Amino acid sequence: MENKIKLLYMLQTLDLKLMDLEEEKGDLPGIVRNLNDQIQETQTQIDALQKQIDEHLAAREKANLDEETLNQRVEELKKQLYEVRNNKEYDAITKEITEAEDKIMACMQAAEDNDAKQKELSTSVDELKQKLESLQSELSENKKDLQEVSKIHEDEELQLQHERDKIARQLTDEALSSYDRIRSAKYGKAVVPITRGACGGCYKTVPPQLNLLLRKNDEIHHCENCGRILIAEEIAAEVNKVA
Ligand SMILES: [Zn+2]
Repeated sequence: MENKIKLLYMLQTLDLKLMDLEEEKGDLPGIVRNLNDQIQETQTQIDALQKQIDEHLAAREKANLDEETLNQRVEELKKQLYEVRNNKEYDAITKEITEAEDKIMACMQAAEDNDAKQKELSTSVDELKQKLESLQSELSENKKDLQEVSKIHEDEELQLQHERDKIARQLTDEALSSYDRIRSAKYGKAVVPITRGACGGCYKTVPPQLNLLLRKNDEIHHCENCGRILIAEEIAAEVNKVA
């Protein structure tokens, strides 16, 4: 069973290598994520506009049907005018004709308004569809690039991950979670070697007595300044030689 501090340092070394590989992918994962978000958003906008267009189309259709019905009614009424028996009947029919004609005008106006609105919205949808198309082609290019970069490092990444798992299995959950906690708080570096008498993370000088304790390598010590786990320079060098 390996020494706990050495194991943690090995884990750190592997994690830094994995981070480097991740960095080589550059902005690509972020760009892909962002494009996916934009595509989703644009599609939502298109769907909402399309729904409005459908409503205007339905309203226009209804206006046309109403107009047709009213026109038929006017025709009927006009025929009835020839058969009236008195002025009262004549007035009543004429009044109904006038009302129907007003309604016809309103229907025509409604049809026109809905038509105009629908055309305006369709133009917006066309623009959004163009935007969507260009986003999609941008996405597929970036995805392809990301896949290529990932593929280059795939084997190396798997190998490192495998080694990492092997080492992690030898550490307690407590040690691992403390390591992860420091690592995520300290820009990926949880275990640092002493360099020229100072913490390799924050460069603050380490007291000589702590340096002595670290050389014994039997207990975990943290940097008093940054909280990182410290490892003596020569022990770190020993680990690096094996790795
Ligand atoms: Zn420090």
